[in-house]
Amino acid sequence: MFAPLPLQDGFDNAGLQVGLTDAEVTGVLLCLDVTEEIIDEAVASGCNLIVSHHPLIFSPLKKITGATYVERCVIKALQNGVSIYSAHTNIDNAPGGVNYRIAKKLGLQNVKILVPKEEALLKLSVYVPTAAAEAVRSALFAAGCGKIGNYGSCSYNVSGYGTFEAGAGAHPFCGSVGSLHKEEEVRIDTVMPAYIKGRVVKALLAVHPYEEPAYDIYPLKNSWESVGAGVIGELSSPADELSFLKNIKEVFGAGSVRHTALLGKEVRRVALCGGAGGSFAQAALAAGADLYLTGEARYHDLFSYDGKMLLAVIGHYESEQFTMEIFKEIIADACPGVRTEITSRNTNPIHYL
Ligand SMILES: [Zn+2]
Repeated sequence: MFAPLPLQDGFDNAGLQVGLTDAEVTGVLLCLDVTEEIIDEAVASGCNLIVSHHPLIFSPLKKITGATYVERCVIKALQNGVSIYSAHTNIDNAPGGVNYRIAKKLGLQNVKILVPKEEALLKLSVYVPTAAAEAVRSALFAAGCGKIGNYGSCSYNVSGYGTFEAGAGAHPFCGSVGSLHKEEEVRIDTVMPAYIKGRVVKALLAVHPYEEPAYDIYPLKNSWESVGAGVIGELSSPADELSFLKNIKEVFGAGSVRHTALLGKEVRRVALCGGAGGSFAQAALAAGADLYLTGEARYHDLFSYDGKMLLAVIGHYESEQFTMEIFKEIIADACPGVRTEITSRNTNPIHYL
């Protein structure tokens, strides 16, 4: 899966917003924001599913009377049999997600996550009779264990022996009830994202031959380097600041590019975060970025980097507009027969004179 919901940040509300999961999809309208006009467009074009980047519903609704545009959208969607699904910070944080797409548009290379996700990985150690080790390893990898960067099927295996004495009522795979047994075993160590723990344990128990498999799961303090906020990469050849800023304006069709004072040096290392990413500018500076690009930043943030790093702000909508292309590709890949349309509407609430 490209951007599983557990990758979303704690404040977020990504996922199904409105509608039914068992309705057959007639077409999908892709957008950044859900508005009443977007729902009208979906209905007119025969799409009964809207996939948006920003969740329609952020705060819990206590009533649905049509008093706010969110309530009116919910009513209109339900009346017209339109479901709404939002992929927000889960696709921001995903490898190949929103920020990788922005980096691609700017021609960055060697792109890496700027602020990796913390407290998101687990270590699994399981003790397996030697003859069954291969089958258990394969099942763990198939369930999603052992992925480190661009490597898969990562594990460490140590041979030893286990001891156990089966008690009354036990049905031991080897040895016999009431006597101490020694068995040649392999301890398999591997890593997994915390959110897949349930399915990994299920896969493990399904394939492990013991009646009571012994396994340990530990929380890891390692950062999850392939998942997180923002990205950093390099230009294939250095650019002068002004031409690079002009290129940004062009690529994103930005109404304006607000930036800190030019530093009089070339731009090579570029960090960026779509949307309201001002708070990650410090991480960009620490990572040695010459320029940090984001959708929104606070006035006082801009002071902090003056003279140290060029900071460019291009608008929230402008920075995330290519997310709709990612949606289109994901759906084409996962459900090739499903019709998708990128909205013809610009839902940016900010206009420029
Ligand atoms: Zn956003």
